[in-house]
Amino acid sequence: MKVFKFGGASLKDADSVRNVASVLKNFSGEQIIVVVSAMGKITNSLEKLADAYFYKKSQAKSILQEIEKYHLESVSNLFMDRSHAVYKELAAIFKGMEQNLNKAPSDSYNKEYDQIVSMGEIISSRIVSDYLNEAGVVNNWLDIRNVIKTDKTYREGKVDWEQTESLSRGLADGIRLTQGFLGRTEDGFTTTLGREGSDYTAAILAYCTNAESVTIWKDVPGVMNADPKWFDETKLIEQMSYHCLLYTSDAADE
Ligand code: ASP
Ligand code: MG
Repeated sequence: MKVFKFGGASLKDADSVRNVASVLKNFSGEQIIVVVSAMGKITNSLEKLADAYFYKKSQAKSILQEIEKYHLESVSNLFMDRSHAVYKELAAIFKGMEQNLNKAPSDSYNKEYDQIVSMGEIISSRIVSDYLNEAGVVNNWLDIRNVIKTDKTYREGKVDWEQTESLSRGLADGIRLTQGFLGRTEDGFTTTLGREGSDYTAAILAYCTNAESVTIWKDVPGVMNADPKWFDETKLIEQMSYHCLLYTSDAADE
């Protein structure tokens, strides 16, 4: 078993999703759990939505519309056939979210936050799974909340290792496409594992399935001399010796 994780930057638009399919095509026939984050910076938008909902601000509906529009832009680029099931799935998800906005929130901000913010990963995993199947990368969508069980510490769910390990048994089945960042309490509410928690999900699943490796795929061609998000003229380091890596990490520790 291998565990792969693709983060938001690797799913930010239709081309990035196509790139995920081309990566996975190199691993056909293997047992892989593919963990995905929400697309682009959607978790930040969902945080704003949770805030608007909880504090009854008027912008909630328009924030939700923006979130839907962002996803539909990628989807309409990925699925030319407008009768593809993904369009109905997304419409149902957004309708459900809109209906929930009309309900009164409970008195726990963190609990409401998790029910809303978790939708980023649910949506992205549906889109990516459907697209991969369409592109010939046969996979099964898995709701990770049926596997990763946590306590009720909303926004920082603490993993119940015993249950999670036992529910992870039997996960090996071709390619499984699932969500990072999410878990579920014993009474059925969604939890999140803390911002940037998808890498953690990949590690949890690797541990629980005794996987041979975890790969965090990034949206850069390799190790570079600086982060291209912050610097203009970054260069790819074509070769790096093990000694150099050790040296760099020593230097970073100091
Ligand atoms: N989508 C979540 C976040 O932005 C989890 C992750 O990407 O790791 O924090
Ligand atoms: Mg990250």
